[in-house]
Amino acid sequence: VQPGAAPGVRGGSPAADVLIVGGGVMGCAVALALATRGVKTTVLERSVPGAEASIAAAGILGAQAEAHADGPMARLCLASRERFAALAAELFERTSIDVGYRRSGVVQVAFDAEQLDAAWRAVAWQRDAGLAVERLDAVAARTLEPALSDATIGALHFVDDARVDPPTYLRALRIAAERAGARFQSGSFVRRIVVAGRFARGVVMEDGSEITADWVVLAAGSWSTLVEGTPLPPGSVRPARGQIVELLLPAPLVERVVYGPRAYLSPRDDGRVLVGSTLEFVGFRPGVTAAAVRDLLAGAIELAPALGGADLGRCWSGLRPHTPDELPVIGSTSVARLLLATGHFRNGILLSPITAEVIAALVVGAPLPADMAPFAESRHG
Ligand SMILES: Cc1cc2nc3c(=O)[nH]c(=O)nc-3n(C[C@H](O)[C@H](O)[C@H](O)COP(=O)(O)OP(=O)(O)OC[C@H]3O[C@@H](n4cnc5c(N)ncnc54)[C@H](O)[C@@H]3O)c2cc1C
Repeated sequence: VQPGAAPGVRGGSPAADVLIVGGGVMGCAVALALATRGVKTTVLERSVPGAEASIAAAGILGAQAEAHADGPMARLCLASRERFAALAAELFERTSIDVGYRRSGVVQVAFDAEQLDAAWRAVAWQRDAGLAVERLDAVAARTLEPALSDATIGALHFVDDARVDPPTYLRALRIAAERAGARFQSGSFVRRIVVAGRFARGVVMEDGSEITADWVVLAAGSWSTLVEGTPLPPGSVRPARGQIVELLLPAPLVERVVYGPRAYLSPRDDGRVLVGSTLEFVGFRPGVTAAAVRDLLAGAIELAPALGGADLGRCWSGLRPHTPDELPVIGSTSVARLLLATGHFRNGILLSPITAEVIAALVVGAPLPADMAPFAESRHG
């Protein structure tokens, strides 16, 4: 293909080594990982990069706070969290954008002793594994975060958990990937993955034109089972809506991410606090509901009463790609040269660095950074 030539010439030479379907955090992170390894990559996004779940996220990198038990998922989340500092530095070097990566920690607040005991027991495996988790009494919790309610009886402190600013992270990933040679085609709806024999050979667009490639990566989030030709069975990835309310304060009220019984607080450096989130199975319907806003605000003010005086910012929702076992689907499929990077549910921002590394390793034939068998598409039978 000539430089600048339109891709998609049926029967012509491949338009790219790799076509990525979907420009969310997965598509953008995979594009960067491939482009920096010298792989010719095009991202096909029906809207604009980051339009859906990824930009809606709260940006919590809660590998420990989100890990309810030891296992492959917890280990994958930890491995990905470990990669964030270097990735944030790389993005800054490539784009001069600070993606808001802060190793702020997560504080999980308890309002009764039983709750705190149960939470402490649940993280016994983390202590055994040498991960940093502290049990704080009420005084220590409120010394760490003075805005916490005086109903706080204690907290767990996940010292190494972190946060990032999703919109900025998405922008930096896209710009860095573009500078490294990846192409992004917005307004490009992929209708079908073309499979010839046992191999993925490219995609068919909405207008019927075909784009050929050596590899196809399906990273279409909640819409992944709707792309024709996917080996994913219907229902194996479905949308799980989450709503967020943004509160505006002139200066940061809390420094750490705060988890409470009814809401979490994800602070930004500029004083904003993102209050999340709901978990709703309402199909592909976006939207913010009165009841969710009421409940989120109540949960937030219960955690930090001063939030009652904050200005109300924007409210939004996003569709998390949920899988029946709540594990992502990453890697090879029954169709050769078709790779999946989807189903990341609540932790897609956190898992983006390791997912990108795995997909890039599969394309260039490098060793995988983790055992990916638990996340294989074949586990669905
Ligand atoms: C309210 C909320 C809070 C969250 N908070 C966190 C958090 O704190 N930390 C965390 O780690 N994760 C969080 N998540 C989860 C995280 O946002 C997701 O796991 C992640 O964004 C999924 O990324 P993705 O790229 O797979 O999907 P998406 O971002 O949805 O991207 C998929 C893209 O594919 C495109 N697409 C779909 N079909 C086609 C097609 N046929 N052709 C072309 N393009 C197509 C879509 O337009 C979309 O841009 C949160 C999610 C929500 C909703």
